Amino acid sequence: MDCLFCKMVNRDIEPDIVYEDDHVLAFNDINPQAPTHVLIIPKKHIATLNDIEAGDLALVGRLQYTAAHLARDLGFAEDGYRVVMNCNDHGGQSVYHVHMHLMGGRRFTWPAG
Ligand code: 5GP
Ligand code: ZN
Repeated sequence: MDCLFCKMVNRDIEPDIVYEDDHVLAFNDINPQAPTHVLIIPKKHIATLNDIEAGDLALVGRLQYTAAHLARDLGFAEDGYRVVMNCNDHGGQSVYHVHMHLMGGRRFTWPAG
């Protein structure tokens, strides 16, 4: 399977890792949109949010849990941060392996563009 983020999980491409455990990998985004911009991915290949199944619920919860812990470790949990998951074309998804964007270190506006 020709998936960029699976290649990072398998270390065919070496990501700039921020956190890793048996189920998730977190690494710095190559094109950061904030002072800190980390992508948190499941090691299991799931193409989009639409493909999440009942058996993946703990894994999806782990993405959010990891984001909150990283925000604390990186020092912006109290100031606040933005978490985003884009789905398909209208959502702006460009890599088809589910990922959570964790961005911090600046103030974000709402609504998103
Ligand atoms: P999406 O647009 O699918 O929600 O987010 C994909 C993200 O992956 C983008 O923020 C983009 O900058 C990031 N990205 C794309 N290619 C690479 C890469 O080769 N390395 C890293 N670290 N991030 C990447
Ligand atoms: Zn993948």
